[in-house]
Amino acid sequence: MRWLCALLLVWLALPVLAQQPSALARIDAARSSLVAEGRDRGKPRPMELRLVLDQPVPYRVYFLDGPPRLVADFREIDFSGADAAALSGRELVPALRWGRFRPGWSRLVMELPGPYALRAAVQGPAQGGGAAVALRIEPVGQDEFAPRDNALSALWDLPAPAAVAPVPRRIAERVLRVAIDPGHGGHDPGAQVGAIYEAAVMLGFARELTEVLSRAGFEVVATRSDDSFVPLERRMTLARAGKADLFISLHADALPAGEAAGLSIYTWNPQADDRATRDLAMRHDRSDLVAGLDLAGTDDQIADVLMDLARTETQPRSEAFAKFAVSELNRAGIVMHRRPVRGAAFSVLKSPDIPSVLIELGFLTDAGDRANLFDPEWRSRTAQAIARAVGLWAQDDAARAALSRK
Ligand SMILES: [Zn+2]
Repeated sequence: MRWLCALLLVWLALPVLAQQPSALARIDAARSSLVAEGRDRGKPRPMELRLVLDQPVPYRVYFLDGPPRLVADFREIDFSGADAAALSGRELVPALRWGRFRPGWSRLVMELPGPYALRAAVQGPAQGGGAAVALRIEPVGQDEFAPRDNALSALWDLPAPAAVAPVPRRIAERVLRVAIDPGHGGHDPGAQVGAIYEAAVMLGFARELTEVLSRAGFEVVATRSDDSFVPLERRMTLARAGKADLFISLHADALPAGEAAGLSIYTWNPQADDRATRDLAMRHDRSDLVAGLDLAGTDDQIADVLMDLARTETQPRSEAFAKFAVSELNRAGIVMHRRPVRGAAFSVLKSPDIPSVLIELGFLTDAGDRANLFDPEWRSRTAQAIARAVGLWAQDDAARAALSRK
């Protein structure tokens, strides 16, 4: 009951908050609708809520109980002037309301005639311009209904949103900022070989790389600077909050001896079908699962469509950095994996708006790689090569941005 009051208070407070004039997505209420399938036999029917917006927005959807409700949080829709009561099909549900929820977030709450499950959440181009969010829900039994058990978390545990700029953010006249992400930490030591822990080795290398980058005139944002556990999603959020232009995650994992040696660079690719890489990605996500965090989002559905849209801009930039890095590391005589650039479903590379790579500096399971990681001269050469690659990439990226603006 207490949370209900809290919810009510928040809703009551809404109209008091001034709407900021900004380039927020606007809803086109006349083209939006709620539609039910099949004939009305007085029982809950499958429904589709379709919202037409003038631009795509990140959003997520989940359910609450008591009464059953669908909640969609958007970052951010300007609902002002659009009356939820006037939505076509509004009478299909007991209640529907929308509005600004808290700074940066808008919320739509739709009371449902019974328990439902989300079957599809799609955002794509709308006919006649703009973007359309289509949420398809189907009635389910109470046992299949999966509301968030903690409505308070629904209130406050909003995700760190991806800042999706309509124009990809490029390096402006300011200093380039690099997020350095030493893998693992805290209760997740990463790969272990004897008394050697990946988390500690990466923290050490990250410090050296930070110094080299700073001396080269770049700014550095660290996702961790001590032996603490930082969830993968938080690492991306920290990079975004620090306005990073590039994200570099550092690892030195373990694979069965003889399977992998040499430095390799990964960019995001969920279709990577190389078994060893898949194992590595799963191992990286597992530490988050152990910590009780769930990137797969089984308790609420984070719509990935928009992320994919934004990623089509970012992905070539990540790949471009990987190429510069390989060529600089080659020139520095650093021994690399036989396929130095690969794709992987490493969750930490999922930022839709920041070019991201994961560098496996080597494999702790390989004696040669281990020796390199403990060789100050090798580390210094590697850090210098990465810093040069950052500089070359930044120039190239700025030039491409200028070209694409013409
Ligand atoms: Zn690792």
